[in-house]
Amino acid sequence: MKTIPYGKQRITKEDVQAVTEALTSELITQGPIVPSFEQALCDYTQAQFAVAVNSGTSALHIACMALNLGKNDWLWTTPISFVASSNCALYCGAKVDFVDINSETWNIDVSCLHQKLIKAKKDNRLPKILVAVHLCGLSCEMQEILNLSKVFGFKIIEDASHAIGGMYKDKPIGSGKYSDITVFSFHPVKTITTGEGGAALTNRAALSDKMRLLRSHGITKDENLMLGNVDGDWHYQQLYLGYNYRLTDIQAALGCSQLKRLKSIIRKRQKIASNYDKLLNEFDLKKPYKAEQHNSANHLYVIRVNRLQRKNIFDFLRHHQIGVNVHYMPIYRHPFYQKNDKHQLYSSFLFPESEKYYAEAITLPLYPELKYNEQQYIVSKLKEALQVNK
Ligand SMILES: *Cc1c(COP(=O)(O)O)cnc(C)c1O
Repeated sequence: MKTIPYGKQRITKEDVQAVTEALTSELITQGPIVPSFEQALCDYTQAQFAVAVNSGTSALHIACMALNLGKNDWLWTTPISFVASSNCALYCGAKVDFVDINSETWNIDVSCLHQKLIKAKKDNRLPKILVAVHLCGLSCEMQEILNLSKVFGFKIIEDASHAIGGMYKDKPIGSGKYSDITVFSFHPVKTITTGEGGAALTNRAALSDKMRLLRSHGITKDENLMLGNVDGDWHYQQLYLGYNYRLTDIQAALGCSQLKRLKSIIRKRQKIASNYDKLLNEFDLKKPYKAEQHNSANHLYVIRVNRLQRKNIFDFLRHHQIGVNVHYMPIYRHPFYQKNDKHQLYSSFLFPESEKYYAEAITLPLYPELKYNEQQYIVSKLKEALQVNK
């Protein structure tokens, strides 16, 4: 029997055809398909502007740069995320601090955030940016976070790498109603893919313009933006220190094709998640949070078991060809962060809920092609593992 992976991309005939067409067209790096992909992202999310780039990590980086994050600034995020959520601050020379997660949603805990902001205000070290991570595809409590941002004056980036296709209240994630910039990732384990790729969405033209420049060396060919004399039609100018973070037309073609299926992908994921909910009903374990105003994209299905049993259960499932995983170890536990803990902020006792989560979490397989009998198999093995390890 082949291992059931925890996640898996799906490439259809239509995807292959779209990519082949792009590959044999005239422009294969940023040509006409990148803007079409950006428009399609805007249409889906109701955002005004989308800037497509070569990874979610690049999108986070230019988002921070567009919001002028620099030396002496602080960026806050949650420990339970992929390292890119905080590395983006370090690329800008800024400092990173964390806010603990909520015991039920596993996203940022809004009352912890509030307390920490009050203290930071007294100490004169309020964050410039908060990266709100929609873990597993479930939106953070954006209205409450937005309210706090108005009181304490920080900017909000939504790290929606897990959450394209999800909803918060009446809006698609990425709409920009509750934040300055929203970032998506199109890595193959994510909901839709471009191979590697990402995007930054915003409703503010100035941020969009700046991010567009930054993804391509900081260079402009727009005469209106140039300084001094324009030498001729060949002329371009570099205005900022940017990067080569461009997405290719080949990748954008895959993105356009995948995005057309996003609604049905999300429906399948929701069905699989609700199957798990039912199959796991009798079990004594924590399951993903549910609430009316949060319509999760169901990127990951995480369960929490007794911490003393977690490793044994994990090993047992792996042994039975079930590709379980753990998302994530708290970012501050990584050796790089420990080594660079200049302000003594990265201690486990400061983040009790993140520590508890990490000790108990197991990610079960979830991808659109996962079969119901595979889910039954996974749950039956989990049941065995829970009994064996009582
Ligand atoms: C995948 C991911 C990223 C980074 O995306 P890449 O496209 O792999 O660079 C950032 N944040 C989170 C939460 C992710 O899961």
